[in-house]
Amino acid sequence: MGFNNFLKGAIDIGKAMGVTLGHLRRRPVTVEYPTEAVPLYPRFRGKHELRRYENGMERCIGCMLCEAACPTGAIYVEAAENDPANPTSPGERYASIYEVNLLRCVFCGDCEEACPVEAIVLGHDFAMANYERRDFILTKQELLNPGEPNIVIRPE
Ligand code: SF4
Ligand code: SF4
Repeated sequence: MGFNNFLKGAIDIGKAMGVTLGHLRRRPVTVEYPTEAVPLYPRFRGKHELRRYENGMERCIGCMLCEAACPTGAIYVEAAENDPANPTSPGERYASIYEVNLLRCVFCGDCEEACPVEAIVLGHDFAMANYERRDFILTKQELLNPGEPNIVIRPE
């Protein structure tokens, strides 16, 4: 009886070690985030970006369609007349103030859909943790200068 128990225990330990050793040869299913990038879908909707034209001019013409389209009131735009001698955008007006409140945003993409000039886009940055509530309101300067700009136009 004692020897049988010993044998059964040894077999069970051998089986368990077999499982462990089998997993040693496999690639890990986890990634070393944040040093290793997590693959994202092309249509992933993350932190907003305001885009410019290649000549550096701002795309936003201050039309406020994004503000009107936003279902949560997360966008605030104030428009001003462009200086004809030194225009900020190609239109008559530009956004003198543009803010996105990330605490209200539900990342639906309606602002992006509403924009006639593809100025506001939802980029691929999803690391938005912060300590202060006021830091969740993205200013125009922050939106125009994202850390890693996502310049790919979203596929239809
Ligand atoms: S993604 Fe949706 S909720 Fe967020 S700012 Fe745009 S329209 Fe508003
Ligand atoms: S981001 Fe687009 S929709 Fe919003 S104010 Fe600027 S041009 Fe208009």
